[in-house]
This record gives sequence, C-alpha cells and structure tokens, in this order.
Amino acid sequence: MQTPVPGYLAELLESCDGDSSGEPAAYIPELARADVSLFGVAVAAPDGVVYAAGDADVPFTIQSISKPFAYALALQDRGCDFILSKVGTEPSGDAFNMISLESGTGRPRNPMINIGAITTHALTGDPSMDPQQRFERVRDGLSAFAGRRLEVDEAVFDSEMSTADRNRSLAFMVRSYGIIDSDPIEAVHGYTRQCSLLVTAKDLAVMGATLANAGVNPLTGERVVDQAVVRQVLSVMLTCGMYDAAGDWVTTVGIPAKSGVAGGILGALPGQVGIGAFSPPLDEFGNSVRGVQVCQRLSGDMGLHLMGAATGGPVTVREVVEATVDGDPITVVRLQGDVHYTQAERSLRVFSEIEPGDSPVAIDVSRTAEFNDVGRRMILEGIRRLGLDGHPVTLVDPDGVLPDPHVGDGPQPTVVQRLALDS
Ligand code: GLN
Repeated sequence: MQTPVPGYLAELLESCDGDSSGEPAAYIPELARADVSLFGVAVAAPDGVVYAAGDADVPFTIQSISKPFAYALALQDRGCDFILSKVGTEPSGDAFNMISLESGTGRPRNPMINIGAITTHALTGDPSMDPQQRFERVRDGLSAFAGRRLEVDEAVFDSEMSTADRNRSLAFMVRSYGIIDSDPIEAVHGYTRQCSLLVTAKDLAVMGATLANAGVNPLTGERVVDQAVVRQVLSVMLTCGMYDAAGDWVTTVGIPAKSGVAGGILGALPGQVGIGAFSPPLDEFGNSVRGVQVCQRLSGDMGLHLMGAATGGPVTVREVVEATVDGDPITVVRLQGDVHYTQAERSLRVFSEIEPGDSPVAIDVSRTAEFNDVGRRMILEGIRRLGLDGHPVTLVDPDGVLPDPHVGDGPQPTVVQRLALDS
C-alpha cells in the first residue's frame, strides 16, 4: 500500500489554490517579480521522512524565517542570560520593520522583528569574529538545520541592500543604545545576506523538524543546538513569529511558526512535525496568504493545535496482576507507553494503593516507550517509597529505559531482564 499523506497534501494545495489575493513584497524590488502562481507544501516527521506536494523544490529566499535560527545560534554561542540582556521576548504589536525598543533598557522587544533580528545576527558566533566569519557562522548553522549547504541569492541580496535604509537606521538605533557595539552597516550587511539564503519548502520542513526533534537534525543526526535553546526559540516563535497577526495565528493554527516576505512559512510542533509552505502573495501583515490557509487546514485536519490535546494521554498502567515466582506471591505492576508527568502521576496513584508490608512488588517497564526526566524521577521515587514501605522491589527493564535506577536513601531495587512467573 501507499501512505495517504502525499495525496492528502496534494488535495490540501488544491483546496487552498483558489485564493489569489495578496501581493508579493514590493519593497524589495527583486521579490516583487516573484511568480505568484508558485505554491508548495512539505511536512517532515521528527524521524526525517519528508512528504511534499506542489512547488516544494522551488528555491526562494528565507527572509525572516532565518530569524529564529539566528536567534538559536546566538543563544547557543553566547548563552541565554547574555542574549536576554540584549533582546527581549515580548510581542511588539507592531509591524516587522518598526522601531520597537523597550523603554528603560533600550532592548529590541523580540528577535523576530527586524530590529531584534539585526541585533541577534550581530551577537552570533564568537565576539572576536569579523563580519565575514560571523555570516559564515550563521550560514553554517542554518545549513546544519536544513541538512544541506545553503547558498545566497546574490540578486535578491543586492536588491534588498539598495533599499535597506530603514534596516540601517534600526541598526544605528540599537548601537546608540549600547545594545551592540559592532558596526551597524556591517550588521545589516550580514543580516541581509542571512535573509537572502535560498531554501525550498522541503528545507523549511526539515529545519522545522530539527526544532521539533529537540535540536537534532533528523536527516543528518547532527545536534545543531541544545534542547533548552529549542524551548526558548519555539516559545518566542509562538508568541512573536507571525508579527501582529500572532493572536490570530495562535488561536487558529496553534503551532510555533515564522513567516518571511518571500512567501515562506515554517512551523514546528515539538515531537510531531516540521512544516514548510511557500506561496509569494502576502497579506497586510506580511504573511503568505495561501501559506496561512494551508497551515490552518493542516492543523485542523491533523489535530496539530498545541492546545488541542485534551485526553491526558493513554493509560500508563496496563495491568496490575497478583502472580507467583517459585510459589512466592508477587504483585506485578505493568506500565506502557510514554511516561511523562501526567502518566507518572497516575502510576504513582496505583503504587500508593499497594498496602505497606514485606510482600514483593515488581514494576515492569518493558512495554514503556519514553521516560522524560520528570517521569523517570517520579517512578524512581515511587520505587523508593515502596521499598521504604517494606516491599522488596524488582524492576523489570530489559531495554534499560530506566538506566541507573538508584533511589537515594531507600533500599535499591533488583533490576532484571524478565520475570520468571509461575504459569
Ligand atoms: N529581509 C527582510 C527585511 O529585513 C525580512 C523581512 C521579513 O521577511 N518579514 O525587511
């Protein structure tokens, strides 16, 4: 059989193809010449499988979609505290090219508007780097997110530089407030080259999947940035990524995202999917008209809205059985699936129903999928408490999903590959 996803994506494009409203960006002359009929979409799973439909291999300039990635690199290179002292995380409520500085500190309000993004570009890499080395750091970093080397569209770069006076004035502004100390003209040069990197909708999907996969590119296996950096970047994308359409976006799509004036949109939903969409005509906020529609439908059809998970996850305690080993009774609690806070809390409730005493208890995690750190600590604390209640505890863990199960001051559990129950 063939997976139905590519057919679904083709049908999705068709259903959104009717809307010909919007105009390509005009303030960058080269972008105004874009072919308005181009329309593509791609989705990438966190394991790197990419599905696509339409013009998903057509290159276009990444523009503002580069901003969250340059922000990620700045956080990785200089640390979160330092970058936060330079650029805030509040939505500005203004258009992307506004002077939006926080009163008092003079920080740009967030890294997704131009003034914040020019600043973050200037703060990537090592402070000792010259502008050329800094741009190469950014290009290498974005290429690592995409899993292939990205090239600059020189025509778009030249075209934007010929009309970049507003960005130049923004850069002088941040230097006048002491936020950057490098040359503002060089900062705009590097930032504009960063915006002129060529990507396809498929590239955007992979870049999104790298964020969705906690910073590891699923195609190359390379860890591009730390998980803590990804959390910061996705949070800022969620609140500031779609400019002053952010509220509309969060309610109707509910996926951290970023748009660019060449018509690209990138989405990333942690653990689930990276999305790339491309269609040049833009709405009044500077977001791709058909790109927004595709993302709205995709989110609705596939239940991807961040706030849409209402079930609390599948049952974690598969069963509790009273069994015997060599004739001796043992209570076996079998867990299954992912174990995060919610699932661990339910499991601990089941543990708490076991009467204190010296009867043996086995916790069987052989059918579990993933423990996050909280899930692991909670289950180990449950094991510790069962031990303190007097139970000899056996941990059945053939795949080592709970490595190093030391339980502090309590009696240590016996770890076994399998339990030889009497039949
Ligand atoms: N390079 C563009 C600019 O600085 C990026 C803007 C965007 O994509 N919204 O204006």
